[in-house]
Amino acid sequence: MVNLARLAEASLDRHGDYPALCFEGAWHTSGEAHDRATRLAGGLRELGVRPGDRVAVVMANCPEVSQVYQAVWRAGAVVTPVVFLVTADELSHVLRDSGAVAVVTSPELLPKFGELLETERGLPKTDKVPAIVVGTPSFEALLAADPAPITDRGPDELAALLYTGGTTGRSKGVALTHANLAHAGRVSREAAHTPGLNTGITALPLSHSYGLMVTVGAMQAVEPPVAVLQRWFEPAGWLRLAAEQRAQTAAVVPSMIVMLLGQPLATTDLSALRFVFSGAAPLPPAAAEAFERLVPSARVLEGYGCTETGGIVSGSPLQAPRRGTVGKPLEGIEVRLADDGEILVRGPNVMRGYWRAEPAELTGSGITEGWFATGDIGTIDGDGYLSIVDRKKDLIIRGGFNVYPRDVEDVLTAHPAVAMAAVVGRPDERLGEEVIAFVSLTGGEGGQGDVTAGDLDAYARAHLAPTKRPREIHVLEQIPLTSVGKLNRKALRALL
Ligand code: ATP
Repeated sequence: MVNLARLAEASLDRHGDYPALCFEGAWHTSGEAHDRATRLAGGLRELGVRPGDRVAVVMANCPEVSQVYQAVWRAGAVVTPVVFLVTADELSHVLRDSGAVAVVTSPELLPKFGELLETERGLPKTDKVPAIVVGTPSFEALLAADPAPITDRGPDELAALLYTGGTTGRSKGVALTHANLAHAGRVSREAAHTPGLNTGITALPLSHSYGLMVTVGAMQAVEPPVAVLQRWFEPAGWLRLAAEQRAQTAAVVPSMIVMLLGQPLATTDLSALRFVFSGAAPLPPAAAEAFERLVPSARVLEGYGCTETGGIVSGSPLQAPRRGTVGKPLEGIEVRLADDGEILVRGPNVMRGYWRAEPAELTGSGITEGWFATGDIGTIDGDGYLSIVDRKKDLIIRGGFNVYPRDVEDVLTAHPAVAMAAVVGRPDERLGEEVIAFVSLTGGEGGQGDVTAGDLDAYARAHLAPTKRPREIHVLEQIPLTSVGKLNRKALRALL
């Protein structure tokens, strides 16, 4: 069964009505969520949303996000999730490019996006996109509709149009089908499954491919999944929530681990926490080790994926993780390396193509004979474990030598005073490019934040080959991050 609306129904049949979601101190049951989704689907249809139409969803995490996803799929339409931290310009690009017929959003975002959106209910009188605002009459009116049956869509029809981060150029719409997402969700869930560990905490944006994959994975869980959801990541609140709700697993990006290291981890009872799944960006080994030292019950495991592959490619086997690798390709997913080391991926999770607005069609760019070229350089060891060397486009060529920023970042983050490190290339007349590093310093328990750029320079001299040594190391209060918590190299290059 590869229709996402049908998977959601099957999940309710399997697990029944139970408290499935904890959000801001309140519990929500699976039955209540399903009931709301069926009504919202009816409301969307009444509003004129047709099968195949795109509906943008721009909200911070809240119970309504997954209800709206279910409703859109039930109505046979396509979700276009947008991380709420985008600017109005970025949202405008997504709305125009996707041709979204409606936007579901929350009231606190209206001041930012109001110019683009038509908040009056009914057909737009202007060229603005009609907005349905959670907690206001426009949303309540949808909920008042009669429950809608499922509008069937085939496995190869679009379920989601996700826009890439745009950290490396113009944001493109990645067209993922029901089958793509169902596969990515199922195999990632199965790879992470341990009997009895059902309570997971997440603060990842549900609108990013990683968050979407976790959501679709939960719909296919063999045991009733319980989600503890944070509106957005905030380290002190996360810690409190994880302890109070005795979270057993957590889905994170590496910058969250780094920020948690600045919290009283050792003195908080996190004894229920067994697995922390990190993905979306390189995990500095030093950060993973420090976390495990402070939370001895937990193992930090790394996975790898891209939007174009439904959020997942590989994951660390629970019983045999190998630090520094991103584990092995998950079920049904093939990985091979091109001559230059680029990671190529083939499988049922690989997107149909990029969305092209004019004329509206999909382009298969980046895919050759089913193999998607990720743009990442990797290695595969004798036992089949994959490691990410770096992104091809981040490679710095300094005086003819290849310098992968990640190599330098891993060395810098191994310094006890360094919380996060980011390395970029600066054009240089003599060498072509120079290696420039930015670091932020540790605080909190065990933090040793009193170090100077000079100390770090001496450390870099001792630990890095001369070709890789940063020409300059700048200490920043905070390393700029993207909306999902990845290093924002574009913002860093702007500082050069
Ligand atoms: P843009 O398309 O604008 O560059 P993006 O590449 O960040 O944005 P995503 O699809 O969100 O878009 O991210 C996928 C990329 O994230 C991968 O291609 C890889 O470079 C990186 N990535 C994901 N997981 C890991 C990991 N475990 N280690 C290193 N890098 C990772």
